[in-house]
Amino acid sequence: MRAPRRARPLVQAVGQARALWRGDEPEAAAPTWWLRQLWWQVAAAIAVVAYTISLLTVHRPADGYNSLWDGWVCTLGGFIPIVPCLLRSATSPRLRSAWFAIGAGILFYDLGNVVYLFHDQNLHPIPFPAPSDAFYIAEYPLFALGIVLLTQRNFGAVRVSARLDGAVTGLSVGALAGFLWFDPILKVSGRPLQALVGLSYPLMDLVLIVLIVSSFAPRRYRPSLPMGILLAGFVAFVCGDIVYLNQVNAGTYVQGTILDCTWPIGLWLMGLAAWPNERRRAREDDEISSVPQGITIVPIVFGGVSILVLVLSLLHHTSPVISSLALASLVLVLVRMAMTLHEVLEVERRNFEAARIDELTGLPNRRAFFEQGEALLEEADDGAHVGIVIIDLDGFKEINDSLGHASGDELLRVVASRLHEAFRHRGTTSRIGGDEFACTLEIANADDLDALGEAMSSILTAPVSVDGMSVRVGASIGMAVHPDHGATLTEVLRCADVAMYKAKMSHTVVRRYRPEDDVHTRDQLRIIDDLRTTDWERDLVLHFQPTLDLRTGRIAGVEALVRWRHERFGLLYPDDFIPLAERTGLIHALTSSVLDRALRTLAALRSEGHDLTMSVNVSRFDLLDDLLPAHVADLLGQAAVPARCLTLEITETAVGEDPEHAAKCIRELRALGALVSMDDFGVGYSSMSRLLALDLDELKIDKSFVLALRSDERARAMIAATVEFARALHMSVVAEGIETPDTLAAVQRLGVDVGQGYLISVPLTEAQLRAFLAARPAMPCLATAQTDGRPKITAS
Ligand code: C2E
Ligand code: CA
Ligand code: CA
Repeated sequence: MRAPRRARPLVQAVGQARALWRGDEPEAAAPTWWLRQLWWQVAAAIAVVAYTISLLTVHRPADGYNSLWDGWVCTLGGFIPIVPCLLRSATSPRLRSAWFAIGAGILFYDLGNVVYLFHDQNLHPIPFPAPSDAFYIAEYPLFALGIVLLTQRNFGAVRVSARLDGAVTGLSVGALAGFLWFDPILKVSGRPLQALVGLSYPLMDLVLIVLIVSSFAPRRYRPSLPMGILLAGFVAFVCGDIVYLNQVNAGTYVQGTILDCTWPIGLWLMGLAAWPNERRRAREDDEISSVPQGITIVPIVFGGVSILVLVLSLLHHTSPVISSLALASLVLVLVRMAMTLHEVLEVERRNFEAARIDELTGLPNRRAFFEQGEALLEEADDGAHVGIVIIDLDGFKEINDSLGHASGDELLRVVASRLHEAFRHRGTTSRIGGDEFACTLEIANADDLDALGEAMSSILTAPVSVDGMSVRVGASIGMAVHPDHGATLTEVLRCADVAMYKAKMSHTVVRRYRPEDDVHTRDQLRIIDDLRTTDWERDLVLHFQPTLDLRTGRIAGVEALVRWRHERFGLLYPDDFIPLAERTGLIHALTSSVLDRALRTLAALRSEGHDLTMSVNVSRFDLLDDLLPAHVADLLGQAAVPARCLTLEITETAVGEDPEHAAKCIRELRALGALVSMDDFGVGYSSMSRLLALDLDELKIDKSFVLALRSDERARAMIAATVEFARALHMSVVAEGIETPDTLAAVQRLGVDVGQGYLISVPLTEAQLRAFLAARPAMPCLATAQTDGRPKITAS
């Protein structure tokens, strides 16, 4: 039992360290890979540390060379960091060539060391430049390649202009250093090649450093762990190279001093950088990188430095190498500026395009549709026809809600690509809204458009496979033609919209615009306008339909049914304006007026001695309104009627929208003492479990079942089942739509508690209701009151 106890913290620590080191790359997660890396990293670290300690403690002979430390440990130890680079290269396909190049760079450095060692042992003095320098110099292009590939792969495309900054910096620093520091040596030694080679090391280190640092720019200079370590490696190199060059030129360089550990440390850091994964940060980084920063400080500062050096070197007649470096740097600054200008223009072009493309489907968006459509209509020759087609998917919301947004998106993509593929030779398809598409098509005549509409319809109704399920979407397609239906795009589009709307209402899939459709739409727009401005106190009319207690034969209550006395259209019925009020958010004000009027009427009737209840319909949008219960409480208080006399009728769709919210609202209403009834029960799609979760007082069986009682056995079964269900949950049952004495008798037999329908009474005005109540007709009775003539404006 001892081992696991002690091992656990260790295992955890290793696990944590691993998690820290490991990025998101799945291939890097393999434990064997990680352990192998660990092993080689430890070996490299031991070699470096040991060698550094040896420089401080182990005595070197006069020639500075200790065959154990400088030979075996330093030179052979220098090969170890190659292994982590190759391991990384093998396990990360994305970074394969990058780390391979860096590994190869280290290899060339090591080969240079071996050659140098050979000379050190055999030639005195060692020539400078020596063949080993060829290897040392060869490592730089490889390092540069590795860095470019790394930054490219890991950071997204870092701009070429930012990379050029590396070269600009290298050249101008080279020119400056040459002017201040190396020019005297150059002149004294008279060996330009030697000075040049010596100078090239720190210069190339600097170029690599700037290359790395400039790749941080898109990330606001927050380096990632690997790139930070890599940077440290080259910083170690540049420090070593500068001091070395100084010492060589001064003739003071001896082997075996602490200076010699800078290169092994640099190599070790490069190998170490291959270990941790590049953690890919949030997308924002990519976005940042796509925005050029303009001319940054780097080329401005170093361009200035180069000009200064150029002027001074011309004045002081220094070596042409220095002025050439300064000149080259200036040329690069100019190139860099030109590139940035190009990049800015390019980004602007891409932004322009992105603002006109719908991201989800890749189709032109609403904005592009208008721009391109207007241009097309303007260009259209006399006699040419352009068809505008609007396609609105039916039932998309249901698919989105039931299968999830990912499936909804997938469906939109499929529809988009089908439309695009089928009609791209005739015109353009755009996505102009959530599930709304528009096509602009060049057509020969209006009949041609009809044929295209039919083709669209069949394309859209073919099943779509989303999430492993085959679904079928319906669509409503509205079409209009330029110039027949309008001179401008807006006009033609409006006509196509009207036709689409008409198609949806009449359940015909495709419809070409007809002028008579417009009258209807215009009326609707007028109604919407008037809904906003109407004075409900004046124009609201309530009709009351009595309900009959089937056990006692008493009139138990009334249901308030709203009408609107419209100055132009006469008395409007709920179907003509409730959906419009719901769609425009004006329903709350309307419900509030209905409740207020209904409760005041109830108070008056009760004070006259009629013991009645009042049922009021509330819209599904009211049920989502948090303020409804408080508002109902207020109105009950103002009217001074007991809450138990008010029944609020809700529908299943209201519950379906947001079940939890609806349940909360119902609880609060019932807490006031009011009753809640489920209207139109049986026609919705609510599951039993969902209904059971609600606290209801009443189920109001939809009239379609009651009307079908005589002809359809299933209607009888449904009513019987509802009664049984309601009994078990202590709810009462109302049957509406009772038109004949037979039906009344049938629902009575089935155990329904309350009846409502034309047989008992049609909806009555307040005055008619008083007369009706005063007559106290024997039940069942046929109501004699007038039925209201209904100026029907077809439902929307
Ligand atoms: P509902 O709540 O199902 O109301 C019953 C509807 O059936 C009424 O139509 C009524 O006139 C009709 N009806 C009554 N008895 C019979 C019958 O024996 N046979 C037949 N065939 N029909 C009968 P109305 O007044 O046109 O109301 C239609 C719908 O409008 C109502 O259906 C209700 O959902 C909605 N509504 C009415 N008033 C309001 C209101 O104040 N607010 C809200 N949000 N909706 C209301
Ligand atoms: Ca109702
Ligand atoms: Ca109903």
